[in-house]
Amino acid sequence: MRAKSCGTMAVLPICRLPNNAVLRQKARRVSRIDGSVQRLIDDMIETMQKANGVGLAASQVGVPLRVIVVQMPGEEPVVLINPEIVKCAGEQEVTEACLSVPGYYGEIKRSAAVTVKGKDRNWKAIRIRAEGLMAEALEHEIDHLDGKLYIDHVESSDRLHKVERLVIPERGTIEPES
Ligand code: ZN
Repeated sequence: MRAKSCGTMAVLPICRLPNNAVLRQKARRVSRIDGSVQRLIDDMIETMQKANGVGLAASQVGVPLRVIVVQMPGEEPVVLINPEIVKCAGEQEVTEACLSVPGYYGEIKRSAAVTVKGKDRNWKAIRIRAEGLMAEALEHEIDHLDGKLYIDHVESSDRLHKVERLVIPERGTIEPES
């Protein structure tokens, strides 16, 4: 049960492999924006920031709707509803990790630049042209909406790595989180 909305944001549990069918599901388009979608967006932003992520898709918090949030270091979060890649160009080699695939990172190829269209949280049409990390984050999050994970793009097993646990003498062992 959930308390009545009082305007505060909440950190949501993040769905992780291996036992989360929602991560492999194709998310549904949002047909209109209402209080529950606004609330979801607020909670996704809070959850992404708390986890130090640069992006989060609704599928990752168990909601199969086409909503993503991305936030570049030092910038404001960007919300995209029903995002679609309308153009991509070039190629970049990136090292990627995912909050839903804890304990690993991998080297994959992404587009160097993408143009994405969608709606913002005021249901206004927007179009974003991005390159570098922002392009990578947009592709990664839009993949989530189609049930795809970055590990699907890893070309060989030697390009997927386990995050080693970090041992700090005074603090003990820190388990990798993402
Ligand atoms: Zn991810």
